[in-house]
Amino acid sequence: EPGVVILGAGHGGSQAGFSLRQEGYEGPVHLVSDEPDLPYHKPPLSKAYLKDPAQEPQILRAEKAYADSRIDLLFGRRVAAIDPVAHRLTFVDGSALSYSHLVIATGAENRRLSLPGHDLDGIHSIRNRADAEALRLAMDRASDIVVIGGGFIGLEAAATFAGLGKRVTVIEMAPAILGRAVSPVVSAHVDRQYRALGIEILTRTAIAALEGEGGRVKSVRLSDGRAIEADLVLVGIGALPNDGLARDAGLAVDNGIIVDAELRTSDPAIFAIGDVANYPHAQAGRRVRLESVQNASDQAKHVAKIIMGKEPGPYSETPWFWSDQGPMKLQMAGLSFSPDRFLTVGDPEAGAFSVYHFAEGRLIAVDSVNRPADHMLARRLLAKGMTPSDADLLAGPDRLKAL
Ligand code: FAD
Repeated sequence: EPGVVILGAGHGGSQAGFSLRQEGYEGPVHLVSDEPDLPYHKPPLSKAYLKDPAQEPQILRAEKAYADSRIDLLFGRRVAAIDPVAHRLTFVDGSALSYSHLVIATGAENRRLSLPGHDLDGIHSIRNRADAEALRLAMDRASDIVVIGGGFIGLEAAATFAGLGKRVTVIEMAPAILGRAVSPVVSAHVDRQYRALGIEILTRTAIAALEGEGGRVKSVRLSDGRAIEADLVLVGIGALPNDGLARDAGLAVDNGIIVDAELRTSDPAIFAIGDVANYPHAQAGRRVRLESVQNASDQAKHVAKIIMGKEPGPYSETPWFWSDQGPMKLQMAGLSFSPDRFLTVGDPEAGAFSVYHFAEGRLIAVDSVNRPADHMLARRLLAKGMTPSDADLLAGPDRLKAL
C-alpha cells in the first residue's frame, strides 16, 4: 500500500507521523514540507528567538528520531496539487507521491496588508524561521518600530523591541488590544503593563498608508492624517488558513478545510488537522478553526487513532494556549463564545490573577496571568465540564483540587 502522506511538517504534521507509529501503523509514512529544515517550534520565533541573536530555532525532534520511527522526511518539497481521485500529490517539480490516506497539515499564512506602500522594504511579519531571521537582522538597525495589530504575536514582539530600547508604537483598529482573544480585565491589564514599559498603544486607529523614501518604509500614515515615524514595521493582523490546495482538489472549504468530528474532510481518505482545519467543537456548539500548538498536536494524535481504525469518538480536547507577553505569562483554556459573566480571582495590581468566563451559568473559559496552577486546574475543570461555585474558585487551587 502507498501509505500515509502527511502534507505539512509543522507541529501537527510531525506529531501525526510519530502518533501513527505509536498507534501501531506499520506502512510507509511520508512527511512533506516546503521548508528547508527539520520541523521546529514556532512559538519561540516571536519570543526567545527574537531576543537572543545566538538562539537557533529549536527543532521538534532530532533527525534520528524520524529515522528510528521510519518517517520519510521530504524537505524543501512544495506540493502543487492534490488529486483525490488518483490518491496522489504532485510537487512543483512535477514529481508525484501516492497515498492511501492523506493528512493535510498545511497551517496558516499571515494575512497581508492591502494598503498603499505595503510592499516597501522594512515591512515584516513572522510565520516561519526565515521571517524571524529576517526580522532579527533588521531590528538591530531599527530605532522606531511600529507594530500593526495588537494580537498575541505582534505584542510579544513589541515587548521584546521595547526591552531592546526601541521606540515602539502598537496600532490596533479595535477598541482594545487582544480584544477577541481574552477577557476585558486581561486586555486592560496587558495594556497598562505595556504603557508602563513605554510602549505607545493606539486603539480604534486606522491606517491610511505606509510611506517610504528610496523604497524603504519611513512612516505610517494614520487615517486621521497623523504620521508615525517608523524605520521598521511589523504586521501582525492575523492568519489565513492554507486551504487553497484542498479547495482546488474539490474538498469542502470555508475558512479552512471543513472536517467532521473525526477530522475527516469531505473525501473519506483525507483528513485535516491544526491551523488549517475547521472542525465542529462540541462544547462550543459551533465550528471553530484554532491556531495553537495544543490544537495541532491533539488533533494529530486523534487522526492517528482514526486511521488505525481505533474508535476514539469525536475530537473533543479542551483547547488551551499560552503567550509570553514581556513579564506576563498568559495562559488561556477553553473557548469564550458569548460569555455573559466574568469572575476575577487574585490581584491584577499584583500581576497574578485568573479570569473565569461563564455563559448561562456554565464555566466556558479561563484566562490566567502568572497563575500557572490555576491554568492547569482550569483545563481539568473544563475537560470534565465542571462549574465550581464562585466561593470555591475564589478559594483557589487547593480547594479546587479537592473537588
Ligand atoms: P504549521 O506548524 O504552521 O505547519 C504547516 C507547515 O506546512 C509549514 O511548514 C508550511 O510551510 C507547510 N506547507 C504549507 N503549504 C505547503 C505546501 N503546499 N507544500 C508543502 N508544505 C506546505 N501557538 C501556541 O499555542 N502558543 C504560542 O505561544 C504560539 N506562538 C506563535 C508564534 C508565532 C510567531 C507563530 C507563527 C505561531 C505561534 N503559535 C503559537 C501558533 C502555532 O505555532 C500554530 O498553531 C501551529 O504551528 C499550527 O501547527 P500546524 O501543524 O497546523 O501548522
